[in-house]
Amino acid sequence: MKKIVVMGSTGSIGTQTLDIAREHKDELEVVALTACLSVDMMEQQAREFSPKIVAMYDEKSAGELSARLKDTDIKVLAGMDGLIAAASMEEADTVVTAMVGMIGIRPTIAAIEAGHDIALANKETLVCAGHIIMPLAKRCNVSIYPVDSEHSAIFQSLDSEDHADVERIILTASGGPFRTCSYEQLEGMTAADALKHPNWSMGAKITVDSATLVNKGLEVMEACHLFGVGLDDIEVVIHPQSIIHSAVMFRDGAIMAQMGSPDMKLPIQYALFYPRRPYLATERVDLVKLGSLTFEKPDPEKFKGFKYAYEAARCGGSMPTVFNAANERAVALFLKGKIGFTDIARLIKNAMDTVPVSADPDVDMIFEAEDAAIAAVDKMCEHLGEKN
Ligand code: MG
Repeated sequence: MKKIVVMGSTGSIGTQTLDIAREHKDELEVVALTACLSVDMMEQQAREFSPKIVAMYDEKSAGELSARLKDTDIKVLAGMDGLIAAASMEEADTVVTAMVGMIGIRPTIAAIEAGHDIALANKETLVCAGHIIMPLAKRCNVSIYPVDSEHSAIFQSLDSEDHADVERIILTASGGPFRTCSYEQLEGMTAADALKHPNWSMGAKITVDSATLVNKGLEVMEACHLFGVGLDDIEVVIHPQSIIHSAVMFRDGAIMAQMGSPDMKLPIQYALFYPRRPYLATERVDLVKLGSLTFEKPDPEKFKGFKYAYEAARCGGSMPTVFNAANERAVALFLKGKIGFTDIARLIKNAMDTVPVSADPDVDMIFEAEDAAIAAVDKMCEHLGEKN
């Protein structure tokens, strides 16, 4: 039995992880679940999977859940301390980090220090703290299995190959719902437009990130940390059909790619069962029906958030945190209808231009950079509000 902790269990990746746990009851045991606010769903999950611990980041939600689960033996914990306790619980083997945003940094560090393998879906953790997480994982002899579909594809393509033979990583992107729009059209796009992703069904934040291509920028940084490569070793290719989930080119010119229908269950299951491939009832790709696969170059002048991601990565230190935190804040404002679609990149750029950056930030400094980036976004938003 593999004992798993599912962090962010009420989100898109979290619920799909539990679908897999339900399918493989004889092999996977859920020992802890964590979420932020969704008390109803958490109660349901807790009653179905009977974990030892459930933790709610929001203290009030934890109080409510605790009252509802009174008739069970499940321990209900609250706040960041609760998340950390769940991540580091002794009996766990693997921690699935599927929470949204930088909230994942401290629990992921705690899980690694406790010696648990990580099935990593929370890319913000590596973007902001990869320089701390990767060496720590190595020291603690912990494996990090990517759950992000592109990184899982790269991981699968690299399996059993000599990393010294890698010439370049080919990171694919669907291009999102606005791939063929002009910049002028982008300016008028609303949250409802951005949430209509052509291929993938995902949470709201990442779907907007996919529309801005900020997600791809974050994934480039994630790949640098995960696979120990430089920015220039990664080529981003727009592939609108989302069938090739990413690829690796080797120095003899061979390209190894992982293909499949766009279904997150495959990378989740692979991360949990590596190196095995149990049966998965996912849609099979019919190559003949598909007919053709197409590829194009991303346009960093249209999708400026993508360009700023490269600037943030080149600068390094706490700049990726500033980029990521400004984006998180701006996307939240966009989803509330407070700013326009192209304002997201504007706000990111402004934060990168105004927040002081440190070269080698520790965890506290990362969170200081986050606060400063959020303050920079809010300040410029007030300014935008005054102008209107
Ligand atoms: Mg991805």
